[in-house]
Amino acid sequence: MTNEKIKVGTKAVWAGEKEYLVHGATQVPVVLSVAYGYDDMDEWYDVAIGKKKGHIYGRNTNPTVQAFEDKVKILEGGEAATSFSTGMAAISNTLSTFLVPGDRIVSIKDTYGGTNKIFTEFLPRQQIKVTLCETGNHEQIEAEVAKGCTILYLETPTNPTVKITDIERMAKVGRDAGALVIVDNTFGTPINQNPLALGADLVIHSATKFLGGHADALGGVVCGSKELVEKIYHFREINGATMDPMAAYLMLRGMKTLHLRVRQQSENAMALAKYLQTKEIVEGVYYPGLETHPNHDIAKKQMKQFGGMLSFAVKGGVDTVRDLLPKLQFANRAANLGAVETTVGPARTTSHVECTPEERAAMGIPEGLIRISCGIEEIEDIIADFEQAFNHVESALKV
Ligand SMILES: *Cc1c(COP(=O)(O)O)cnc(C)c1O
Repeated sequence: MTNEKIKVGTKAVWAGEKEYLVHGATQVPVVLSVAYGYDDMDEWYDVAIGKKKGHIYGRNTNPTVQAFEDKVKILEGGEAATSFSTGMAAISNTLSTFLVPGDRIVSIKDTYGGTNKIFTEFLPRQQIKVTLCETGNHEQIEAEVAKGCTILYLETPTNPTVKITDIERMAKVGRDAGALVIVDNTFGTPINQNPLALGADLVIHSATKFLGGHADALGGVVCGSKELVEKIYHFREINGATMDPMAAYLMLRGMKTLHLRVRQQSENAMALAKYLQTKEIVEGVYYPGLETHPNHDIAKKQMKQFGGMLSFAVKGGVDTVRDLLPKLQFANRAANLGAVETTVGPARTTSHVECTPEERAAMGIPEGLIRISCGIEEIEDIIADFEQAFNHVESALKV
């Protein structure tokens, strides 16, 4: 079967592993060795200068880590991928590879909190101009990109209000302006959305989230053309934000069930969003799968399913959140997302803890906003859990 014909779920199970198997093992080994020895000085030299395939030192390459990179590369449909110790390392190393003082980057206001800090705190002090547009305002992004920039950086859906940007349309304006188009696809996942196929140059993941899927390993990855990825790899091998081999193994293991998890998480999120819309105590439900979402049509065009992330605002703000969340039986109250367990948290404590209340208000994030990362549990149990938690809070509000 040619690679294009094989479906993504089959790739998630099999892709990228075969060449790393040893001794007839059916699973990729965890290679913890830091260094690789050579008796033949000429062979050592050829590997060291990149003429021959092989490994020299763990900061540069590692077989377990490469198997992970190969699997992501195949799932995202890129030519190459390189990995990092965390998602933030993937983002910061990628930006640092291409930006020099005097450059300009255009992005959106609603990027991940850490990414937003890079834009507002770290890039400006390196004399890099940053323009952050209203998320979802395509005309504004087009106008800013047309003025000239080195990078157009997007994230869709966004954290925590799941706003949607049209990747194909933005990739076109980016390319026309000679900018590199980078998309953080952490929320999209390679199962639901493939930015490279929509015209983006590079796709980034916090592998910590859906790719790993079990909240037990940190990692990041960037994927795209060989030429671009080699430049990023070079920056990373020198600066040292290397993925740990044990983390790579956990990612590989997690990714074998990626399509099953994401399918279930997407179905759960859809059902939970519809349920939340029926509750009087809920003021707003944010989910790209709902027809009430302002960019539902774009989401429908570029995503296969709408993903496991949603958020909602409750009447009574922070006080209600404080009462409601501890009542949930089947949810971790934590800053993580993308795991098999449902995870909930106030946006003010999780994704946007670095912002002031004023900054959050300006970004359209109510203080009573609750972010939900749907797990793979049976949806009936999750809805029943929210129902009993709402009942507690509603009866407390009445007295
Ligand atoms: C978590 C996250 C990151 C950062 O990843 P880490 O692995 O925590 O460094 C970047 N982007 C998005 C959208 C995220 O959710």
